[in-house]
Amino acid sequence: MSLNKNTIEDIELKGKKALVRCDFNVPLKDGKITDENRLIGAIPTIKYLMGKGAKVILCSHMGKPKGEVKPELSLAPVAKRLSELLGKEVVFAADDNVVGEKAKASVEKMKDGDILLLENTRFRKEETKNEENFSKELASLADIFVNDAFGTAHRAHCSTVGVTEFLPVSVCGYLIQKELKFLGEAVENPVRPFVAILGGAKVSDKINVINNLLEKVDTLIIGGGMSYTFLKSQGFTIGNSLVEEDKVEYAKEMIEKAKAKGVKLLLPIDNVVADKFAADANPIITENQNIKEGYMGLDIGPKTATIYAEEVKKAKTVIWNGPMGVFEFDNFASGTIEVAKAMAESEATTVIGGGDSAAAVNQLGFGEEMTHISTGGGASLEFLEGIELPGIAALNDK
Ligand code: AMP
Repeated sequence: MSLNKNTIEDIELKGKKALVRCDFNVPLKDGKITDENRLIGAIPTIKYLMGKGAKVILCSHMGKPKGEVKPELSLAPVAKRLSELLGKEVVFAADDNVVGEKAKASVEKMKDGDILLLENTRFRKEETKNEENFSKELASLADIFVNDAFGTAHRAHCSTVGVTEFLPVSVCGYLIQKELKFLGEAVENPVRPFVAILGGAKVSDKINVINNLLEKVDTLIIGGGMSYTFLKSQGFTIGNSLVEEDKVEYAKEMIEKAKAKGVKLLLPIDNVVADKFAADANPIITENQNIKEGYMGLDIGPKTATIYAEEVKKAKTVIWNGPMGVFEFDNFASGTIEVAKAMAESEATTVIGGGDSAAAVNQLGFGEEMTHISTGGGASLEFLEGIELPGIAALNDK
């Protein structure tokens, strides 16, 4: 997949109606937005388009209304809060049809530099099926399309892919541009040594990521719940640790693949274990890889953490997805903290895949120190799997 996509800086915008796909899928409680990071993230693209004199028509999904109008999933609160953040009114086209008569009339009234927000695109059942009629309706409002929603780039929907077929120009905004530059470049064109760190609960969630990254990295570091399936495949005892019996053979194959490719694959050499899965469980450090019956591994051990941190220090590019242990429990967060710290102190390009790892890094206070934290959970995993993201593929190449 080409990552060299045209951006909003490559096109003529003055007087143009720009349909901008944003990710305004924010959490709401009693009609109030409880985390507005996604709104803040969208501002640079919106301000640029406004400043260049485009008519800015924003759209997004929120939640899963499944093709029905659900007032509690209306984007009205987003228009209100976005107006405050931008210091300029974002007109809300309160149209249950998303692109109905009301929305069309609101677009007609727009002047250069104005901003309008359409209603939740998933109020239309066609949206998630990428049906032509709704794609055409969306396209009929605008002259050009801008995609700035990385979190939905792995889905072919009307507002991410279908619409591009009916507009002459489709480019990315600053958020997707940044994902392509850091996440994309790191995977496709890394400065070496290139180290990937994979953790989290399950091997099965990351099978394709492991397989794909073994084709690209110099070192693959494994931690977290998934490491016990790998340790078991090498004949170590793992007590009651998380294990996927049906993936033991796969883990063994991956270790053999790494050897054959000359990739250094690191597994824990010690563990922090406990006799129960609980925040107040007593942490015990094992002497080596083996875990006794009645105990479960809940974090990588201190010797392992030092080795992993050393490996990070030697790297020029590091990608991380999945915590090294149950970081939500203080007693079992050290491994994750050590790795995050090593990345934070590193001069390398450091990229955090979305989802839980992003939450862990931010929660531990290392967010600011990373080169890039991906905004897309599922989308960033698919990127690491080497899958072409339809929402990116649909944008115009440079
Ligand atoms: P994932 O969504 O696959 O990245 O998994 C993240 C979750 O894995 C976190 O909630 C961690 O608490 C959990 N996790 C990490 N290490 C372990 C472990 N050793 N045993 C059980 N769960 C773990």
